[in-house]
Amino acid sequence: MFPTLHSLLHAVRRSLGLAGPVPVRLDDDEWVALQQEVPFIRILSPPEATLLRERIGEFLARKTFVGIGLDLAPWQQQLIAAYACLPILHLGIASYRNWKTLVVYPDTFAPTQEWVDEAGVAHSAVVPQAGEAWERGPVVLSWADVCTDGAVIVHEMTHTLDAANGEVNGFPPLPEDLPPQDWTAVFSAAYARLCREVERDEEPTLDPYAATDPAEFLAVACEYFFFAPAHLRAEMPAVYRHLAHYFRQEPHRYGDEIPAQRPGAGA
Ligand SMILES: [Zn+2]
Repeated sequence: MFPTLHSLLHAVRRSLGLAGPVPVRLDDDEWVALQQEVPFIRILSPPEATLLRERIGEFLARKTFVGIGLDLAPWQQQLIAAYACLPILHLGIASYRNWKTLVVYPDTFAPTQEWVDEAGVAHSAVVPQAGEAWERGPVVLSWADVCTDGAVIVHEMTHTLDAANGEVNGFPPLPEDLPPQDWTAVFSAAYARLCREVERDEEPTLDPYAATDPAEFLAVACEYFFFAPAHLRAEMPAVYRHLAHYFRQEPHRYGDEIPAQRPGAGA
C-alpha cells in the first residue's frame, strides 16, 4: 500500500517539527460553560465561535500552564486560552510558536524591576504588574486581573506577536499585503499624538500607559481594538483600520464595547 499524499505531507511536516500536537477537544459541556465565563464568545458569529473552539484546543495542546501558588483547573486554562486565541482567530496558532509557557499567579505579582536612568544610575524597585510577556516567554499573568479584565491577556499576547520578529517594539511581522511604511507612519503619528496629550495634561485618547513606549502603545491599542472598538475606530481610525487588516477582524461589528469581565468578578 502506497502512502497517500496527505500522509506523506504530514510525515514531512512532523519531521520538520511543523505539525503540532493533537488539539485538545473541548466537550460540549465545557464549551457551554466557557461561554458563560467568557462573554465575548457569545457575540461571535457561529463560524467564528467554531473557529475559536478549535484554536482553544490547539492552544491547550501546545502551551504549558504553570500556576504559582494556585492550581489551575481545566476551566481556568480554557478561559485564559479563549482570550489568548481571540487575536489569532484568523492568524493561526503558529503565530504563537515562539513561546510555550504561561505562568499564572493568584493575584497581581510584584517582580523587581531594574533600570538605569539618564544619569547612568541603576535603580531597582518592586512594581506590581497585571501581566508581563518577554521575548521568548514565559507569559506571566495574574488570575485576579484576568477575571476582572480579560483584555490583559490580549495585551500580553500582543507583546508576543510583536516579539515574533525579534524585538518588542510595536512593529510585529506584517502580512505581505500590509505595507510596513504605512504601519510605521500610522502608529508613529498616533503614538506621538498620545504622548502630546499626556505631556499637555489633556484628556488622553487611550489609557496613558500606552504612552510608555511604542510596544505598550500597540498592546493597549489592541485592548481597545477588541474590547472598545467603537472608541478606537472613532478616535484613531487609521490605527483601527490597520489592526483590522492585521488581525483580519472587525470587532466593531459586534458592538461598541465588548465585555471582558468574568461574570461575578468584582470590579
Ligand atoms: Zn505591556
